[in-house]
Amino acid sequence: MQLKTILNRVTNYKPFVIASAEFSDQEQPVIEVTMRARSNGKPLCSVCNQPASCYDTLPARRFDFIPLWMIPVVLIYARRRVDCQECGVKAEWIPWATGKNHLTTEYQWFLAGWARRMSWKEVAVCFRVSWDHVFNSVKHAVSWGLAHRSLDGIESIGVDEVQWKKGHKYQTLVYQIDQNNIRLLWIGPDRTAKTLLRFFRVLGKDRTPKLQFVCSDMWQAYLKVIAKKAPQAIHVLDRFHVVQKIGKAIDKVRAAEVKQLKADGYEEVLKGGRWLLLKRPENLSDKQAVKLSQLLQYNLKSIRSYLMKEDFQQFWTYRYPGNARKFLDARCTRAMRSKIEPMKAVARTLRSKRELLLNWFRAEGKLSSGVVEGFNNKVKLVTRKSYGLRTQNAYETTLYHNLGALPEQEFTHKFF
Ligand SMILES: [Zn+2]
Repeated sequence: MQLKTILNRVTNYKPFVIASAEFSDQEQPVIEVTMRARSNGKPLCSVCNQPASCYDTLPARRFDFIPLWMIPVVLIYARRRVDCQECGVKAEWIPWATGKNHLTTEYQWFLAGWARRMSWKEVAVCFRVSWDHVFNSVKHAVSWGLAHRSLDGIESIGVDEVQWKKGHKYQTLVYQIDQNNIRLLWIGPDRTAKTLLRFFRVLGKDRTPKLQFVCSDMWQAYLKVIAKKAPQAIHVLDRFHVVQKIGKAIDKVRAAEVKQLKADGYEEVLKGGRWLLLKRPENLSDKQAVKLSQLLQYNLKSIRSYLMKEDFQQFWTYRYPGNARKFLDARCTRAMRSKIEPMKAVARTLRSKRELLLNWFRAEGKLSSGVVEGFNNKVKLVTRKSYGLRTQNAYETTLYHNLGALPEQEFTHKFF
């Protein structure tokens, strides 16, 4: 079987034909595939896609195709320029590449596919291309996907903030969290009101009124924008973010207490205990459970805070908002009397956001509590995997690529 036969089977480059496919004379084998335009028929303008008369022919260029058994495959073609009535003198349209790309479109999708399974660096090493080639390929896949995705039918969204890089740099992420469609919809730098307003601009005036549920954490800027832009939706403060907030308060209590214990010369009973306090009891190993039970023998503020957090989990087990409200009020009052400042601060916040918290019950189980948390974890995983992506552009690209559930271009053959 000839290589031409294989190439004709896996590609569709009409109205171009494969003139030849041969090894080059170089020391390292390279398969050179020469492309030729069909002799009848006019070239198409690459801007408007209309036939136009030939203006001149540019020098031959090389386009990298997907390697065959790790032998590089190169398409060679001398592109013509057309004299288009609409657009002027332009390069002709070719089906295997766009713009000044010297990777074929198939190769870009191929690299992008691998880039979802390995780091960009690993892909570059595996296929002997540059890191920039991988990055550009992923970028190409993402922009194609964003241009071809549909934002119709979105009923539930989750708004989340993620810390990026060290220090207090944040990214705002918006997910669609409908049961049949869970995906990352949007990312923007920072977590200001302006940031989230940009998302609503993307969603558009027709689609925003169709939102039924919005999940978010307690960040004031988000609350304000959501109330303004989607007043018809039930706005829920989700469980994951509430528990996270209590966890952070416990961290503060513990840090202050360790400091105090040290100053008073007591042994550091709490050292290394941070994670035990944040874990759900059923997730503790035997050894950890022993350490926790030792810790619990001290009547320390951290432990009291921990018990308050555990006790508060009951909140989400209620069925009716009325009962949940009673429970919430009682627990907030208790926390206010605890004399533990960070816990009092949380109680104050929860109290002031009471209606939004109770909306959880008004949503009547239509929102899954795990979905925002699951997404938050996935984002962290992707961020960790792509450690070293320092620019906003690369960060956004990799998140959309991994979590955006973006549509992909279809080809004659599935190369990946
Ligand atoms: Zn044109």
